[in-house]
Amino acid sequence: MHPELAADLGRMPELLEETRQRALAFLTGLDERPVVERAEPPTVAPLTEEGGGVRAALAEFAERWEPRLSASAGPRYFGFVTGGATPAALAGDWLTSAADQNSNSSLDPAGQQLERETVGWLRELFGLSAAHHGTFVSGATMSNTVGLAIAREWLGERLGVDVAEDGVGALGPVRVLSGSAHSSVAKALSVLGLGRTALRAVPVLPGREAVDVAALERALAGAQGPCVVVANAGTVNTVDFDDLRAIAALRERYGFWLHVDAAFGAFAALSPEHAELVAGLDLADSVCVDLHKWLNVPYDSAVQFTRRPDLQARVFRNAAAYLGPSPASGRGYPQGEHPDLVHLTPENSHRLRALAAWFTLRAYGRSGHREIVERCIAGARTLGEQVARTDGLELLAPVRLNVVCFSLTADPTPERLAALAAELADEAFLTPTRHAGRPALRAAFSNWRTTEADVRRTAQALARAVRKLTV
Ligand SMILES: *Cc1c(COP(=O)(O)O)cnc(C)c1O
Repeated sequence: MHPELAADLGRMPELLEETRQRALAFLTGLDERPVVERAEPPTVAPLTEEGGGVRAALAEFAERWEPRLSASAGPRYFGFVTGGATPAALAGDWLTSAADQNSNSSLDPAGQQLERETVGWLRELFGLSAAHHGTFVSGATMSNTVGLAIAREWLGERLGVDVAEDGVGALGPVRVLSGSAHSSVAKALSVLGLGRTALRAVPVLPGREAVDVAALERALAGAQGPCVVVANAGTVNTVDFDDLRAIAALRERYGFWLHVDAAFGAFAALSPEHAELVAGLDLADSVCVDLHKWLNVPYDSAVQFTRRPDLQARVFRNAAAYLGPSPASGRGYPQGEHPDLVHLTPENSHRLRALAAWFTLRAYGRSGHREIVERCIAGARTLGEQVARTDGLELLAPVRLNVVCFSLTADPTPERLAALAAELADEAFLTPTRHAGRPALRAAFSNWRTTEADVRRTAQALARAVRKLTV
């Protein structure tokens, strides 16, 4: 064994203790560090021939990199849609690395069984029935990709061709209809060989981001052959929701595949006051939910649900004698009720990603996660009220759930909004967008640490920044 490895093995307890202390210092310092560090990151250094063990790595990390990391785990990082990590999720994630399981095969079954238990808990959380099977993937983009891959296989089934065996060329042109699809849907269509232009934007309701169901029906009636509909349950700009029940009702007549991108909107199901927004989610053929956002597990984690695990196994089947039982080739239902996970997602090997989610669900239950969701919603509502009252700012949409989308009343150029966001960066991180053609900023609430005090601090910083910009 290399002497540095042998030495580190010998002092593992001290090294893990020192690492724990670093982690703790980082977490307790979240409130003091700028939410986003504006200094340039360090220039990249070459690989060293000799290392120096964990202590050398820790020292260099602490000196060069840690000071430049953002407080994205903290309570005022409102950019994109970014969750943190609950104490239990962090504990689960640490243990995931310590145990280093490759949980994909019944030849070593505990990991994938733990994942199945966790999927069952998530299904209950989001009000899905046992008809939905689920698998963990790395994020909502991958969840949308897997859902649309299953949709592609379903189109093949409808047209009497086998896409997994014969390729996407066997399908002919495909139409994917959506009101306000997330950008990752186009990316997924590119990856899947269906092409970004397969995505057709269906008109939305006036002043909204939710699809106009009557327009969707017209598009379906005019389409040749079976379609895929991507319904949106929580758009990123204004958190608008398609009417899932009305869309599912159209399926009776037009026979399409219904994929729902509920990356963070699915969490509305946890709040009785907002659950109506996702009524009908269970009717979907496939559902995307992100977990590193509002469940507050560390990156990277999401879940993909589908009613057709048989089609999923056809797409992702990975037959090799050394990997154990594999689904039969060709048509039909492969590998029984519970195919090994190696046959269900793009990855073969993957970490025991479910463990962080398992920990936080076990530790806080439905009630703990409901409290996080409701506190985030309340925080967004309060910030929305403050924005509406601040001279020089205006809300661009009502705060429906957890995102505040607003702009400058006068001269709302992307440059001025960027200057406003930069002025705020020590206190809060907000990211730019464009809503209904208008440059805007958005503040998305999904971190378990965010309190009323953080909302006040953000609103005050925002008011100061606007005054500074407008003098
Ligand atoms: C965040 C998000 C995605 C993409 O999620 P990643 O985790 O970044 O891959 C897709 N759809 C919606 C609605 C999202 O909010």
